[in-house]
Amino acid sequence: MNISIIGAGCVGLVSGACLSEFGHCVTCLDIDAEKIENLNHGVIPIYEPGLAELVKKNNAAGRLIFTTDYELAVAKAVALFIAVGTPPRDDGSLDLQHVLAAANSIAGHIDSYKVIVNKSTVPVGTGAKVKKVIEDALHRRGCGHAFDIVSNPEFLREGAAVKDFMYPDRVVIGFENTMAREVMEEIYRILYINSHQFVFTNIETAELIKFASNAFLAVKISFINEISQVCESVGADVQQVARGMGLDNRIGKHFLHAGPGYGGSCFSKDTRALIKAGDDAGVEMALVRSAIGANDRQKMHIMKKLEKTIGSLNGKVIAVLGLAFKPETDDVRESTAITIVNHLLGKGAIIRAYDPIAMANAKRYTLTGKPVIFCKDEYDAIDGSDAVVLITEWNQFRSLDLTRIKSIMHGNIFFGCRNVYSRDTVEKNGLFYIGVGG
Ligand code: NAD
Repeated sequence: MNISIIGAGCVGLVSGACLSEFGHCVTCLDIDAEKIENLNHGVIPIYEPGLAELVKKNNAAGRLIFTTDYELAVAKAVALFIAVGTPPRDDGSLDLQHVLAAANSIAGHIDSYKVIVNKSTVPVGTGAKVKKVIEDALHRRGCGHAFDIVSNPEFLREGAAVKDFMYPDRVVIGFENTMAREVMEEIYRILYINSHQFVFTNIETAELIKFASNAFLAVKISFINEISQVCESVGADVQQVARGMGLDNRIGKHFLHAGPGYGGSCFSKDTRALIKAGDDAGVEMALVRSAIGANDRQKMHIMKKLEKTIGSLNGKVIAVLGLAFKPETDDVRESTAITIVNHLLGKGAIIRAYDPIAMANAKRYTLTGKPVIFCKDEYDAIDGSDAVVLITEWNQFRSLDLTRIKSIMHGNIFFGCRNVYSRDTVEKNGLFYIGVGG
């Protein structure tokens, strides 16, 4: 099948690469000419495990091409996926200008039946808005080509995006017309054969499933983070609490890892957008609102804990390990590590930071204007530091040489924000350990 993807960001590029791997002919379009130029020269704009290989392979096979030309992208495709950004506005609602602009650009070139698939995260009612934009544009052009709208929200996790797209927990498809459903079934036929779970529903339901899912996960993380603070004051161990809870199938073991508070571009904007949608519908989304508050408090709690242990941060050298909002990505949008770095800089600390992949992006996000010393590896960052703060649990930070660390540090504080070390192991090496929730 011929498919076009509008927007070659994280979601668009991963979707395009994976759909071409399924055997489809995919055209990826972006208005960012430099990004397309780079992609045409084999330069992948984001780090995502397995993505570069898939892009290279399918591009060489002629199944995946990159363009800025809407006419070409629309003419070639039966189905067009909109995967552009939906950034938050000040009131929490999502800015749909890129989605509607993409719809308008598509409509300008429709010449036969098309299925327009919304993959961006959009509030309920956006499917209807996209439909209206296309109807109006076709009307202006004086043509009556048939088209259908589908909602197919994306649930991939950055850092595991290719794997999640290829082996999804579920594929949600909101549709109005059976012809569009058949097109979607054909697109995802390979997942059908492999018995992945499909949810066929109406467009509004599909749109809401995405927000409800992300908000639920945010609540779950915030819950265990609050429990971690209780653990710290009563002498309980949050990891054991989480394990004991998670063995109950009704609760489940995933997303019960206490940490420094969630980050990333999606949870923050999607939870706020759900609260706004609730407000508009006259429903108080009290749990989601609380989760956001708890997340902000968790970040503050972590920073205060560090300050309490170290004392004045002014002039102290802090080694920060990990800047990406999670491992296996170069994405630092809303990264808790960046929040912590900026807080520490604001308190006069000297930051020596290292991240295996995300340093280039992090350089653009340090807000205070004070310099961060970006180091060549984790030991370089730790050299001469008063404290080590492990924020993003990259695999290479999970088995650090603690004896070496002790010998090259100036001080001895080791703050593991992800609980990937046991207190005993760290303290056996002469370091003073702080973890989260125990
Ligand atoms: P992104 O910012 O990485 O990429 C968006 C791309 O769209 C950019 O390259 C931009 O140049 C392009 N674009 C903007 N307007 C365009 C237009 N009119 N025509 C063509 N291209 C245009 O965004 P992303 O992280 O890929 O997210 C896209 C959507 O998917 C968002 O709604 C997001 O919430 C959702 N989503 C993201 C993730 C994630 O992990 N990043 C996961 C699930 C869902």
